[in-house]
Amino acid sequence: MTIPHDHRSPDERPTHDPATRPRRQEQEPATDEVDEVAPGVLRIQLPIDMPGLGHVNCYVLEDERGVAVVDPGLPGRRTFDVLTERLRSVGVPMRRVHTAVVTHSHPDHYGGAGRIRHASGADIVTHRRFRMMWDATEPPDVDIEDVPDLVDEHARAAARDELAARFRPRMPWDPPAWGGPGVPIPARRKAMMRLARRFPRFVRLPTPTVRLDDAGTIRLGRRDWVALHTPGHTDDHLCLFDPTDGVMLSGDHVLPTITPHIGGHVRDLDPLARFFDSLDKVAAYGPDVTTVLPAHGRPFTDLAGRAEAIKEHHVDRLDVLRAAAAGIGRPARVHELSEHLFSARAQGPMADSETFAHLEHLRVAGEAERLERDDGFEYVLTG
Ligand SMILES: [Zn+2]
Repeated sequence: MTIPHDHRSPDERPTHDPATRPRRQEQEPATDEVDEVAPGVLRIQLPIDMPGLGHVNCYVLEDERGVAVVDPGLPGRRTFDVLTERLRSVGVPMRRVHTAVVTHSHPDHYGGAGRIRHASGADIVTHRRFRMMWDATEPPDVDIEDVPDLVDEHARAAARDELAARFRPRMPWDPPAWGGPGVPIPARRKAMMRLARRFPRFVRLPTPTVRLDDAGTIRLGRRDWVALHTPGHTDDHLCLFDPTDGVMLSGDHVLPTITPHIGGHVRDLDPLARFFDSLDKVAAYGPDVTTVLPAHGRPFTDLAGRAEAIKEHHVDRLDVLRAAAAGIGRPARVHELSEHLFSARAQGPMADSETFAHLEHLRVAGEAERLERDDGFEYVLTG
């Protein structure tokens, strides 16, 4: 059920021999140990096999009702079995899971939530704007319960291709090669139901039962968490902060050593500015933060410093983009500029969407002009 994605900015993808490059902590394989990373907060690592990511951290918050889990890994039986086993190893049967928190709508975060709800009746907690990847243009009231179970490798590959073709809305920055107008939502729904009939097994997509608003609170694991809407990596990204102990669950918004991908798949203009705002928002808690618990990699403390470093990365990339656009010297398509920014092996929709986000940032700042052609956008520097 996953259109493949990579959390890293495409320019951070490996360009040389994986055997010789140092491994970042986000790439390390999942450990089978369960660690207490903050008082009353356990960390389980679930295996994932995405480029550049070796595990996802699933945090377990225990209270008198049972446990809440945060980001329960990929869809599919394997992850669910590992999660069940790890929970059992600390004396928690799956039926004691009363809540699954999903920080954002990427499959390594929401994947297990529907299955957990099916097993234990757990609430599924997300930000108000949570929605599935292929519903990027839809309001967050999607109600598709059952879609094909993609446990079987062959079915997974077939369905992934079909999903990618059918459900990926054509983005305004797409090169003509992506072809065709966006498939309208009712047609996508219909296709989804047809797929559901074609594949005999069913995966349960998460339908949130609790949608948090920014600054809303939720009590989990004997802590009162403040919800922080942090759009940028995705439009629906949610961090949770416990101001009493200074614990921040940062999801993919702030990771210890890699920079999260910034997509153009957000409703608002200038997604990069929104990401910067979201970095400022969490950095403002800096002095009060004692422990940052990211979705990948190890806990860290210097939230403000890390947020600043990620910002600087993008500021540098904007300079590279300005130079590329100046070098071309005429209106250019997004993918054309992308080719100047990213290595050959990093080319593709991920690179294009991040380039688009950067171009929109320059446009809103008055540094670039957008020309809306019939078959996609072109950008040219102004002045
Ligand atoms: Zn993500």
